[in-house]
Amino acid sequence: MGLLDNLESTKTEIREAAERSGRSLDEVRLAVVSKTWPAEVVAKLTSHHGLFAENKVQEAIEKIPLLPSRLEWHLIGHLQSNKVRRALPLFALIQSVDSLDLAEDINRIGAELGLFPKVFLQVNVAGEARKHGFSPEALRDAFPRLLALPRLEIQGLMTIPPYEEEPEASRGHFRALRLFRDEMRESFGISLDELSMGMSHDFTVAIEEGATMVRVGSAIFGDRKAAHA
Ligand SMILES: *Cc1c(COP(=O)(O)O)cnc(C)c1O
Repeated sequence: MGLLDNLESTKTEIREAAERSGRSLDEVRLAVVSKTWPAEVVAKLTSHHGLFAENKVQEAIEKIPLLPSRLEWHLIGHLQSNKVRRALPLFALIQSVDSLDLAEDINRIGAELGLFPKVFLQVNVAGEARKHGFSPEALRDAFPRLLALPRLEIQGLMTIPPYEEEPEASRGHFRALRLFRDEMRESFGISLDELSMGMSHDFTVAIEEGATMVRVGSAIFGDRKAAHA
């Protein structure tokens, strides 16, 4: 199948999962994850889809200018503080804000650049030691200070749960993110409407658990190991 067929079948699966769970299709956005794929491959989709995501600033710096300027780009990988200044003008939204220090840097540099950066806070729902993201406990503690950062527009939460062979096994992690969001809503009176969760092999389960954004790469482009072949 070609890339366009893959994109269409992904959108069909999104629609079906939304319908199954009594949600409307416009509640769920698809971020097409184009990391590792060169601009000429990504270009095959850009007249059919407008939201793309990258995980590395350097790769985005090289790729984004080669593609139509009307596209919306999100950063989904760990952002080092020394790259914030270059990342902010490129990305409409940073989904991977994983520490208070980074949030403070984005706030400060956003102000210098005259921007109000939109962000999601990345939550390490299963508390995995080697993974980026706030633990739920750490985020609960940091929340008052995050809310006090005047330039930051905190729109929601993002998670990358532990890899499970069986998508159904991720359901508990997705549900945990939604319940944690509900708790933060209650405690801090912030809406946090967006829940970015679900990747190629488990996005339908994530939608059933309330995802408002799914991040899908290999189901559309194929195996990334083939990207540079
Ligand atoms: C690579 C990546 C994805 C997409 O993964 P696929 O399994 O290829 O769909 C989603 N989210 C993040 C944060 C990623 O780094």
